[in-house]
Amino acid sequence: MIDLRSDTVTRPSEGMRRAMAEAEVGDDVYGEDPTVLILQERVAELFGHEAALFAPTGSMANVLALAALVGPGQEVLCESRAHILRAELGAHGAFTGLTSRTWIHPDGQLDLETIKTMYAPDMGPFFVRTTAISVENTHNFAGGTVLPIQDLQDLRAYADSVGCAVHMDGARIWNAHVAHEVPLATYGAITDTMAVCLSKGLGAPIGSLMLGTADQVAEARVLRKRLGGGMRQVGVLAAAGLYALDHNVERLAQDHEHARILAEACGGDPALTETNIVVVDVPDAQALVTAAREQGVLVGAVGAQRVRMLTHLDVDRSAVEQAAKVLSQLLQNG
Ligand SMILES: *Cc1c(COP(=O)(O)O)cnc(C)c1O
Repeated sequence: MIDLRSDTVTRPSEGMRRAMAEAEVGDDVYGEDPTVLILQERVAELFGHEAALFAPTGSMANVLALAALVGPGQEVLCESRAHILRAELGAHGAFTGLTSRTWIHPDGQLDLETIKTMYAPDMGPFFVRTTAISVENTHNFAGGTVLPIQDLQDLRAYADSVGCAVHMDGARIWNAHVAHEVPLATYGAITDTMAVCLSKGLGAPIGSLMLGTADQVAEARVLRKRLGGGMRQVGVLAAAGLYALDHNVERLAQDHEHARILAEACGGDPALTETNIVVVDVPDAQALVTAAREQGVLVGAVGAQRVRMLTHLDVDRSAVEQAAKVLSQLLQNG
């Protein structure tokens, strides 16, 4: 089976498994796992943030970060299809009590003029107050689109002018970094907090990090434990993350090239496919999913008439070409 349903389906490679087996470990709830400490320091430094905290999932890293910025009954602004609102099962409202409003952009991009009209300052007991703006880079449900760095810098300047924080859901920030050739620290510089994943294109079996100031991360340690995310000899997983950072970042360019091959095969414009996610509109998504599966290709339905496929390090060039052939035939045969 050629599995294009997600870039989370990768299995740890031989080299990664060896790094995991050889990891030095300790009890991370006591802050004594040396491999976790190295990973946290390394990722914080990559983005120029003061500190980072290892979390089991990107969803938890997002909750930890937004809880640091948005209090109960306060508000975060984000794009309408943001993962934090659509795919984290209401965690932010349920656990931290924040509220949200959204702007709509077909490509998941920023819309600063609209954000300015939405932003709500502190008006005491009369209105909900905006304390953070959250951006998603790359944007998952918009098809892996990248936010241009100039737009992000303009947002940062605006947020500073009104005293509002900026969070980035950077589950796939590595893809944005490779596609737009923007240094990771440049993304770090425009954000107060970030969540980044090791378990997507980087190919680790699990693991994400929340980034922020030392104080925010100290608070996040408490909340992580409260949520049941205090982990023990978890250096075996941090080692997979360190291995992924050493070996699997620059190669993402290959996944992006593979995604353009799939986009073209599906009748799309490869120039619109910036990273590793391809979204295609079809007459009957479920029918295509079933027909493709019968020919050894797994794709996902993300709507009645929309399918999504992702490239990753477990589908090589020949698998991508085979999938492209199958999909292009199925779509032509309607
Ligand atoms: C995958 C993803 C996450 C985190 O998902 P988990 O399954 O909780 O690790 C967060 N944001 C975006 C945009 C994602 O694609």
